[in-house]
This record gives sequence, C-alpha cells and structure tokens, in this order.
Amino acid sequence: MAAAPIQIRFERFDGALGIAPARPPRAVTPEEKPALIARIRERLRALDAVFVAHYYVHPDLQDLAEATGGIVSDSLEMARFGHEHPAKTIVVAGVRFMGETAKILNPEKRVLMPDLAAECSLDLACPADEFAAFCDAHPDRVPVVYANTSAAVKARAEWMVTSSIAEKIVAHLHAQGRKILFAPDKHLGAYIQKVTGADMLMWNAACVVHEEFKARQLEELKLLHPQAKVLVHPESPASVIAMADAVGSTTGIIQAAQRLGAKEYIVATDGGIIHQMRKRLPGVTFIEAPTAGKGATCQSCAHCPWMAMNGLHNLLEVLETGRNEIHVDPATGERARISIQRMLDFAKVHLPTLKGSGDA
Ligand code: SF4
Repeated sequence: MAAAPIQIRFERFDGALGIAPARPPRAVTPEEKPALIARIRERLRALDAVFVAHYYVHPDLQDLAEATGGIVSDSLEMARFGHEHPAKTIVVAGVRFMGETAKILNPEKRVLMPDLAAECSLDLACPADEFAAFCDAHPDRVPVVYANTSAAVKARAEWMVTSSIAEKIVAHLHAQGRKILFAPDKHLGAYIQKVTGADMLMWNAACVVHEEFKARQLEELKLLHPQAKVLVHPESPASVIAMADAVGSTTGIIQAAQRLGAKEYIVATDGGIIHQMRKRLPGVTFIEAPTAGKGATCQSCAHCPWMAMNGLHNLLEVLETGRNEIHVDPATGERARISIQRMLDFAKVHLPTLKGSGDA
C-alpha cells in the first residue's frame, strides 16, 4: 500500500502559502524487484513504448530507463528523445510539466506517467490566468518562461527557456533593447539578470528543493571538505550560487564535474542526480549540499517530493492499465509549441548541440 501523502508548503507568487500533497509510491522490497522489472520490460515491449526518466527520480527508474533503451536526462532532452524514437508511446518518469512538454512536442504519440499528481512548486505558483494578467499589465515586456510551467503558461509566453540556455536568450533579447518579464523562478531570474544586466521584471516563485540550500551550512561543510568543488543549480538562492565553482543546469552540473577533474564535489541540486554522477565518475566523492534540515519547507530535502512519487509499482500499473495519460488541449499545445520551438531554433544557431540545454 502507498504511504500517506505529505503536505508540501510552497510560497505563491503573491506571498501566500500554498499547500500541495505529495504521495510517496508503494515501497519495493528486494525480493519483488526482479519480477517487477521483468514485467515492466515486457509491458514496454508489448506497448511499443519507450521509457524516459529525469535525473531526479529514484535510481531504480534511472537504471531501468537506460537498460530498456530509453534515456535519463533533463525534460527537454527527454521530450526530444521521445520525439526521435520510433516508439508510439512515451512513458515519462518525472513531474507533470515534463509529461506535458513531451506531449506538446509529440502530439501524435501517447504519453503516460506513473502519477499525474506529481507537481512542481514553480508550476503550482504560476497559475495561467494570473500570469496572463501579469503579462497584460506589462505589454512593453517580452514574456520569457522557464520550462517548469504549465502548457497554458507556455502558450502565453513568447519564449520558453531552460536553465542553461536562458542566459543566452535573455542576453540576445537585451541586446535588441527588449525588456523582459520572467517567470516563475525568482532565483534563476535574479542569476540571469546579474550575468546579463538585462531589464527583468520577476515573478515571485521558487523551487521547494533548491530554495532550502543554505550558504552558512555550505560554508561549514566546505571547511570539512576544503578540496571539494561546489556545483550549484541556478534555482538556488544567490548566496549559495556565490559559493559555486560551477553554476549549471542538471546536465551542466554533470558536465562540470567531468570537466573540473576534482576528487570531491558538493552538489547543490536534487540528490537524485548523484546516481548518474557516480556512474559516470566512479571513485569520485559526491556530497549533497546542506539544507535547512528540520525547519525546511521541503520535507524531503534535497529530494523533490513530487519526483519521488515515481516508483516501480505505479509505473507497472500504468503500463498494465493505460491510465495516467497526459492530455494537452490541442489549441493550447499548438501555442505552447511556438515558444518552445523558438528556443529550439535559437539553440540550433547559438549552441553547438541541443543536448544539455537542460532544466530542473
Ligand atoms: S526539484 Fe524543484 S523545480 Fe524540480 S520538479 Fe521538484 S519542485 Fe519543481
């Protein structure tokens, strides 16, 4: 039986407190795991489905995605991979906006997710109608939104960006003399504003995981590990970003660890990514950056409570029943695709490869 839901508190754009439940999936015993995995493999084959997983989901799911010819990556690459793969069905282990992005880029395919209630605090804190009103109130600004938003918010934006290409796109718009309205992540927005100097008006929202990384605790940890390099996702607070040896998206953080060549890293993003880092850099030590601990808003720091809703049991259930299909209103999806495609076209020209233009 699945564990009881936990209440996740997050700050809404207007400063009010939002509450959303996250339901941990049914636990898997070591005895039942081999049979579960065998059954999932069989169902993926029978359904002509490809399984794609985000870096933040449980290591069992990451390993299964790789072992079955799928991918472990960021949301954009997951969607792009699903698009290029001949499979008729894409099964997404991640959070809802990732399933939506996969559907928007692959409207002809069926997209399934283990749990449709897997949310994201950034998405929740940016309701489409309130975002539209914000845009209407600032018609002189170009709306740029982060990937961690609903299809309806992307449909209202001119550009969708992911965390590593956001800086280049904002710099490009700034060079054209355009003023920007950025949503929803205030920390990512502040970081981009600092490095580009662009005129940016920010939505007020944060990721419940990255928001909890703390500079003072990080300083203390650095004293214990003086040789460790610090890798930080730009959804983290500015005081934590200021201590980074490298700032990057999920894919960017992995690439930075491969590039910097240290023996020890402190990683300020969801701890799920460390599974991939250990696989790619065996023998290197990875330490999760410290959070506010018991007082933290996120009750499973530094692990996203919604990413943690993906498990082997609910994955198999979806493959057996066909439940939890992602639907995006076709007209909304078509408009959202324009803002995504604008970014993809920009990336083709300004980035040597689209791979690694990742997100949360
Ligand atoms: S880690 Fe943060 S940004 Fe990523 S899905 Fe979870 S709440 Fe959203």
